[in-house]
Amino acid sequence: EPTYADRVERVSPSATLAISNKASALEADGVDVVDLSVGEPDFDTPQPIKDAAEDAIEAGHTGYTTSNGVPALREAIADKLADDGLDFYDPSDIIVTPGGKQALFEVFQTLVDDGDEVVLLDPAWVSYEAMTKLAGGELTRVDTAAHDFALEPSIPALTEAVSDDTTVLVLNSPGNPHGAVYSDEALKAVRDLALDHDFTVISDEIYSEITYNDVEMTSIGSLSGMADRTITLNGFSKAYAMTGWRLGYFAATEGVVEQAGKVHSHSVSCATNFVQRAGITALEAVDDEIDEMVDAFAERREFLLSAFADHGIDIVEPDGAFYMMVPVADDDQSWCDDAIETAHVATVPGSAFGTPGYARISYANSKDRLAAAVDRLDDADLL
Ligand code: PLP
Repeated sequence: EPTYADRVERVSPSATLAISNKASALEADGVDVVDLSVGEPDFDTPQPIKDAAEDAIEAGHTGYTTSNGVPALREAIADKLADDGLDFYDPSDIIVTPGGKQALFEVFQTLVDDGDEVVLLDPAWVSYEAMTKLAGGELTRVDTAAHDFALEPSIPALTEAVSDDTTVLVLNSPGNPHGAVYSDEALKAVRDLALDHDFTVISDEIYSEITYNDVEMTSIGSLSGMADRTITLNGFSKAYAMTGWRLGYFAATEGVVEQAGKVHSHSVSCATNFVQRAGITALEAVDDEIDEMVDAFAERREFLLSAFADHGIDIVEPDGAFYMMVPVADDDQSWCDDAIETAHVATVPGSAFGTPGYARISYANSKDRLAAAVDRLDDADLL
């Protein structure tokens, strides 16, 4: 046995992995499991993107690219960001990565040193904690569940939590696991805190295209004073149903890009060449397909909200992403264990996100399967 580095000993395996292992074991025994634990669209990648990748392979785009990403893709990303109110990013301010997760990893490695304080708004996506710990940082967690996951009423608690010692605050709107979209007023309050205490905001906007009922998300980087202290991060997995392609990016100041570029080039060299080419097509030629997927998510969201309401369960309506937090027993871990073992419905305990008492369900699944899940949970007396 080698001696393991402290940094890996500090991190636990992903809670979602434990659930999918359980689901796989049941399925191997022939059990039909409704898997609502996965953070993945159930749609196939739109055809124009697949065609573009095939064409790129045929055209010989199979070698390394410039480390930070093919220029045409970075130009297309800069145009997309400009459309979202972030018109100050040049293509040279962007690094293209194999997935949003790698983008986050590189940013954490670049900004967070041993002992540096990283602030999360709970419930927070599981990997922020792991990435903070891998970088040696210390977590400060601010709960938003008491305020239905809204940021505005959580600002007093956030104000208490941040200080001049804060290095980074992570924002994720629309958010996983709660689906909340933060209001402009709340983002302005975060901006004021960032300016007062001189910290950087990592804005994980991976669900930016997936919002409901005409709610629109604002990129905090577009607020005055924030261009230089925001890292805007996104990816293709969710909006374009491209999870397995591994394509994401972040945009930041020249200095951050220079430093993070070292982590990037020494770890992955570049994102896959033909996948980057397909990414250009995604940004430039795929629009209606996104709308169709979002419409389907919206319908399922409505269906589930009313199905749970019929069982007397009041759920905070998510404005974006494709998750909802279902209030369950205090011991959410046992509830989720029962849900998978007796009802054969896979969900993720809220405690994995720092918020016990809930189970996260993903509605990236067909209405029939969602209906089956509710019936099964009801039959097992879990609702
Ligand atoms: N950020 C959030 C909040 C996520 O939920 C995910 C995926 O689950 C990611 C980032 C990373 O996605 P990917 O690496 O597939 O781009």
